[in-house]
Amino acid sequence: MTVSLPMCSVDFMDTSLSVEEQAISDRINELRAQLGDELLILGHHYQRDSIVMHADFLGDSFMLSQMAAESKAKYIVFCGVHFMAESADILTNEDQYVILPNLRAGCSMADMATLGEVEVAWDEILQQTGLADPIHRPDPIAPASQDEACLVPVTYMNSSADLKDFVGRHGGIVCTSTNAAGALEWAFERAGPKGSVLFFPDQHLGRNTGAAMGIDEAQMPTWTPGIGAMGELDGSRIILWHGFCSVHKRFTVAQVEEFRAREPEGIVVVHPECPKATVDVSDANGSTQYIRNFVAQQDSGAKIAIGTEINMVARLAQEHPDKHIECLDDEICPCSTMYMIHPAYLMDVLERIVDGEIPNQISVPASIQAGSLLALERMLSIKK
Ligand code: SF4
Repeated sequence: MTVSLPMCSVDFMDTSLSVEEQAISDRINELRAQLGDELLILGHHYQRDSIVMHADFLGDSFMLSQMAAESKAKYIVFCGVHFMAESADILTNEDQYVILPNLRAGCSMADMATLGEVEVAWDEILQQTGLADPIHRPDPIAPASQDEACLVPVTYMNSSADLKDFVGRHGGIVCTSTNAAGALEWAFERAGPKGSVLFFPDQHLGRNTGAAMGIDEAQMPTWTPGIGAMGELDGSRIILWHGFCSVHKRFTVAQVEEFRAREPEGIVVVHPECPKATVDVSDANGSTQYIRNFVAQQDSGAKIAIGTEINMVARLAQEHPDKHIECLDDEICPCSTMYMIHPAYLMDVLERIVDGEIPNQISVPASIQAGSLLALERMLSIKK
């Protein structure tokens, strides 16, 4: 499978390093030179500069997985979090190894939906609503007839591989923050006019995307494991899992108002993982790549407040010295799990690869590869 996507090769960094960081950086460069074309280092936009400076490519989770899929490198070192490395493993060949420099680098949002919790919710929602499970249809992903009413699962890329497998097996689809609307349209076509979608794990991305598509908030109840539905399941169009991103939920309406009071001509752009109230009062919202493009398109001298992870905001400010760029939350911390990828861990895995080891390999079990790949391939088949 080959898909062309925009990508960001890394050539702009001018990072000041301490003596210790410089020594680590020098050693990483030596190891990279030894491994040559056998090595590909991928860096997510939310990584710190001292990691990004060593990345062959910088991008969002989906773009980086695609880079991995298109690469012939034997060793793919993914400087991101666990679910991203899993997706890269699903999309790469058996003779390629996906390596996460620190195995503790997970994602708190992805951890908010486990397979066991989703399976319980799935059965309860089917029972309470009388909707059909697409798994029992002759073709689980054929568009629904007017008489059919199904429950279709949609999972955000930020989820574990076993959930992607669940979605693949039950006639559902994966989405990213870039293509969430397209994925929901695809799912509605399979659910039928009276069917519904179970969207997990990020309630905010689901709610913001649904609202932008004209769906009433009353038709988007939330589901909390152990508690059940908040709101009416009957007549719902999207049932939102209770999950959230601990970084993006920090951006508030009050912060937007404070920025606007200080900078009346200022522009606010936020990520759709932010709460809906914040998205509603902002000038624009979109994925990390959307935010990068949005900032680039603003006039020189523009004053822009951004609601997303601080490393990316700081890098945008560095890339656009002619614009005033600030983080909407002046006390925000970096994503704590992304921050677990320290350069010393990167150096360590490269040392071990040179020594003949396959350290910290992320390997999705064969039993869930097929379903996960189905769900990812359906996503690749839709228009954004
Ligand atoms: S920024 Fe949020 S969604 Fe992204 S990895 Fe960190 S916790 Fe997860």
